[in-house]
Amino acid sequence: MSDGRALARAYLEQQRLLGTDAVVGPPAPGGAVPAAAATPPASREAVDSATAAVPRSAELLPAGLTYDPPAQDLFSTDPLQQAVTLADVATLVAECTKCRLCEDRRHTVPGEGATAARLVVIGEGPGKTEDETGRPFVGQAGELLTKILAAIGLAREQVFICNVVKCRPPQNRTPLYDEIASCVPYLFRQLEILQPKVILAMGNTAIQTILNTKQSLGSLRGKTHRFRGIPVIVTYHPAALLRNPNWKKPTWDDVRIAHRLLDG
Ligand code: URA
Ligand code: SF4
Repeated sequence: MSDGRALARAYLEQQRLLGTDAVVGPPAPGGAVPAAAATPPASREAVDSATAAVPRSAELLPAGLTYDPPAQDLFSTDPLQQAVTLADVATLVAECTKCRLCEDRRHTVPGEGATAARLVVIGEGPGKTEDETGRPFVGQAGELLTKILAAIGLAREQVFICNVVKCRPPQNRTPLYDEIASCVPYLFRQLEILQPKVILAMGNTAIQTILNTKQSLGSLRGKTHRFRGIPVIVTYHPAALLRNPNWKKPTWDDVRIAHRLLDG
């Protein structure tokens, strides 16, 4: 934007969106003035006409309220933003080479379950069996997860089960920060499409990613958190339960909270 009139208009529009009535007086002698308004030739007349050109639309929400943008961004050329179905996301994941985890994978593991799922379960990343089959939570930890879900009356097929990263980290190591950062847009898009009623985040990787925190499970358990308004219950990862059966009881407590939220 080069001309002062356009700058003034932009400034006033910005003020209007912020809910402020911009008062633009003549430049104070030597004093600070708003940069846009001070730019010649933003004369009083120019500013007035700029104000007149900005409609005070009755449809605009009052300042301070936010709204959710449409799930699909019509103006975006990002293929992920154009993905409308879970299958669309899975197709993009299958072709993805955004991080080094693509190098050793046999299959991508985007996640699976019901499109109408009210519960989404999020783990860390595919293990050996998952990499071999392309399906989430089908190894030993998966069997335990299936039992945990059955205990609250849910079949695997009724929920959506997925992971933070969609390709197996070597030797099942914890995904690195940059791998998570590359992959998490897929998970977020899946959640946008699914709009579940409750999210169950299992283990530190899922919890810290979905809640955008470095705090660990211990300090976050027993409270209901939120991801973009959706209640998030945090609990132990089934693989951790296999190593430490003492955590089964607290996991059971957490899962029951998730169950209550689903029914509520
Ligand atoms: N552990 C995970 O976090 N995810 C799986 O899919 C399997 C094991
Ligand atoms: Fe792409 Fe995610 Fe696989 Fe990395 S882990 S290659 S970001 S799908």
